[in-house]
Amino acid sequence: MKSHYQAVVIGGGVVGCSVLYHLARAGWTDVLLIERSELTSGSSWHAAGGFHTLNGDPNVAKLQAYTVQLYKELEELSGQSCSLHLTGGVMLADSPERMDFLRLAHAKGRYLGMDTELITPSEAKAMFPLMDESHFVGAMWDPVEGHLDPSGTTHAYAKAARKLGAEIELRNRVVELTQAPDGTWTIVTENGSIAAAHVVNCGGLWAREVGRMAGLELPILAMEHMYLLTEAMPEVEEFNARTGREMVGVLDFKGEIYTRQERNGILLGTYEKDCRPWSPVETPWSFGHELLAPDLDRIAPSLEIGFRHFPGIANAGIKQVINGPFTFAPDGNPLVGPVQGLTNYWVACGVMAGFSQGGGVGLALSNWMVHGDPGFDVWGMDVTRFGEWASLRYTNAKVRENYSRRFSIRFPNEELPAARPAQTTPLYDIMVGQNAVMGDSWGLETPLWFAPKGTEPKDVVSYHRSNDFEHVGNEVRATRDGVGVTEIANFAKYAVTGSGAEAWLNHLMTNRMPKAGRIVLTPMLNERGKLIGDFTIAKASEDRFLIWGSSAAQKYHMRWFERHLPTDGSVRIHRYDQTLVGLSIAGPKSQALLAKLVDEDVSSSAFRFMDFRQMAVGGAPCMVNRITYTGDLGYEIWMEPAYQRLVYKAIKEAGAEFGIVDFGMRALLSMRLEKNFPTWYRELRPIYGPFEGGMERFVKLDKNDFIGREAAAQEKADGPKLRRVSLVVDAVDADVMGDEPIWAKVKGRDFGTVGKTHEFGAPRFDAEGKDTRISQASHGASSVRGLQDGDWAVVGWVTSGGYAHYVEKSMAQGYVPAELADDEADGLFEIEILGHRRPARINREPLFDPTGEKMRG
Ligand SMILES: Cc1cc2nc3c(=O)[nH]c(=O)nc-3n(C[C@H](O)[C@H](O)[C@H](O)COP(=O)(O)OP(=O)(O)OC[C@H]3O[C@@H](n4cnc5c(N)ncnc54)[C@H](O)[C@@H]3O)c2cc1C
Repeated sequence: MKSHYQAVVIGGGVVGCSVLYHLARAGWTDVLLIERSELTSGSSWHAAGGFHTLNGDPNVAKLQAYTVQLYKELEELSGQSCSLHLTGGVMLADSPERMDFLRLAHAKGRYLGMDTELITPSEAKAMFPLMDESHFVGAMWDPVEGHLDPSGTTHAYAKAARKLGAEIELRNRVVELTQAPDGTWTIVTENGSIAAAHVVNCGGLWAREVGRMAGLELPILAMEHMYLLTEAMPEVEEFNARTGREMVGVLDFKGEIYTRQERNGILLGTYEKDCRPWSPVETPWSFGHELLAPDLDRIAPSLEIGFRHFPGIANAGIKQVINGPFTFAPDGNPLVGPVQGLTNYWVACGVMAGFSQGGGVGLALSNWMVHGDPGFDVWGMDVTRFGEWASLRYTNAKVRENYSRRFSIRFPNEELPAARPAQTTPLYDIMVGQNAVMGDSWGLETPLWFAPKGTEPKDVVSYHRSNDFEHVGNEVRATRDGVGVTEIANFAKYAVTGSGAEAWLNHLMTNRMPKAGRIVLTPMLNERGKLIGDFTIAKASEDRFLIWGSSAAQKYHMRWFERHLPTDGSVRIHRYDQTLVGLSIAGPKSQALLAKLVDEDVSSSAFRFMDFRQMAVGGAPCMVNRITYTGDLGYEIWMEPAYQRLVYKAIKEAGAEFGIVDFGMRALLSMRLEKNFPTWYRELRPIYGPFEGGMERFVKLDKNDFIGREAAAQEKADGPKLRRVSLVVDAVDADVMGDEPIWAKVKGRDFGTVGKTHEFGAPRFDAEGKDTRISQASHGASSVRGLQDGDWAVVGWVTSGGYAHYVEKSMAQGYVPAELADDEADGLFEIEILGHRRPARINREPLFDPTGEKMRG
């Protein structure tokens, strides 16, 4: 151990070893991993070792696919076997809803290049004969699943890292972290102190404690997890002998069970409803290579279903029950990246599926540290996605909810109840009193829609149009035909002040900054010219700007802003969060309504579209933007929370003569669809350039230099490869939710399919259960047909959509190859909704107010 390193990784579980390996592979060989005991002394050693590529977030799925692909390379490099068993796996659906879920997952897999296939219960049984197929309605096959040896794999990462020059120090605990004013970290260990430019927290079960060493409370909680191992089973041995292969892995959603072959018996694990946090406040340092006491009573309900569904397992003797803890973030995805507010403190923790995700996490983090950018869209894992509200207790409630629902369907209109309300605005009780169905928007209770008086304000969860449909439609129509009011406290808001504010914003943003009293819309790019933000900016005075953006990206953006702040103090940035709240009024009568609330001229010539003004509204000091996300004539009114009730009351009273209605987020999102407006995180993400995203009119390449300008200029010169499009979909009773594949008819040209077309329904097993295709299945191999004129191919994907109530059309937004993006012909596109391909047509001009006449007023 030297006295100084470029980076020190704390923790020698599978994640720390992967980070170490990837850093060394990227050229950072002056790196040290410190492990308090032996490698795999946290949760890694007793893992069940299963891996898979499927994930609700396609970007995380891609990193999982990378992890699985990596193992072969790792074995070759390290000379250490991972004991890889690429068996493939099936997910079993016991209900039509679950089958819809599988259809969605399968459809998503098409553009991810995955080889999943929908199969019958009998086909599933041919691969896993211990099941009773009568309990199931269908299944999905995924060839890229399997299991490995957790300890061997962790050591393979470590050996490969060492070969590349990285160092590992065992049996030495990090006890303290301090940072000098020049940014250097001092890592105090049991065996002395080390200096390092970068620190990486891969503390696993102790990541919270390692976070606390730097003053952080990371939203992580460890949960107990049980799996059992059976004695050898003759049925398993017979299957192996007859088919010459191992049984596949099986996931039974109903039983909340995963199961697979382990040696010549079976391994069966559960995600039980009656789950238990482990060490909820502090993880003892004394915890070693230990297991927790099994508690079969808690998992009995799952086992009962499991033994019914898999009678073959019911009679097997149980050899061992493993109960071990491992950590989760509130949404079940890892926490990765640099921590906002600290310099060079990195985390890679909360990784609940280290053997599916560890490689991808290591790659993303090492890219970030070495090249300043993760190189992928890692938003779904970014540590900044949780705000201050994600406290210890919040995390406890959410992680328990997430664990107990791991195998439950999450419907697109489903709001989960745990740890709510976390944050409320002063209007909360008024909104609830008006029968609002509330949703969670980055920890803030926000009205989604208003249920009729006398009915329960509750969503009927569904993949199809639901009980909100009619009422959201009414809110949209009443707003577009008259006037509506909605709460917009859930936007991010910042103030940028100082003599250098304008120059700094011009350096960060792609658009020119506005004149005083005016507003601009502007994307923000990273150095690679990819979209990392989309803002509304108003100039209040010479050295004061107000910025609005996406609520969920507040810490993500603050991290970027702070990183680029000049050190001379000429620019200051303040994040308001809920110290500034807002209301929006919109619709043709909104101008007349505002005129009643203020003492100044707000006619269209005096207060123009894209104007900003400070004025008293209903007697309260407010800032008013003449712009709204509805794309209609309208205003955003911002005030301190203490004034929100006053302004709301004034709006409702003055609006009564215009028949004002309250509308919620769902109506707002419906209205933006008919204007072709994108949303941050769905349409606009760091995988797209501004020209791909259709943001060209906000990119001024001829202004001063700005971050990402060169790459954006290149994108323009080369022409974007993809383009964001709006489509009208011939949907029946279910609209798109996001992530559906977009199919197009091939017209004598190769426009570079993004997914792969499969031969459907081809039998995978012969009558004797012999595998006809698995033996040749390797990751990424698939049966791609030679495309010919008139064939259909997956060419793109949906980012979001829904029903545009005013124009009465089902709409989608998504990305397709640029050469197809202007083709408004009928019969060219189809979008796969719940397994059915529905005709779709590109719609270039907004269906509502295409010329912007109404919006400008
Ligand atoms: C019963 C069970 C079954 C599982 N099954 C699977 C599965 O099938 N597939 C799958 O992908 N995942 C599975 N997991 C989860 C998997 O184990 C975790 O995702 C993975 O182990 C996380 O690895 P890690 O490196 O983040 O953390 P850990 O394995 O906890 O490693 C953290 C390491 O950091 C060290 N450390 C902490 N603080 C310090 C300090 N201050 N100084 C020095 N060293 C320190 C610890 O000693 C430890 O070795 C399972 C977990 C359990 C409990």
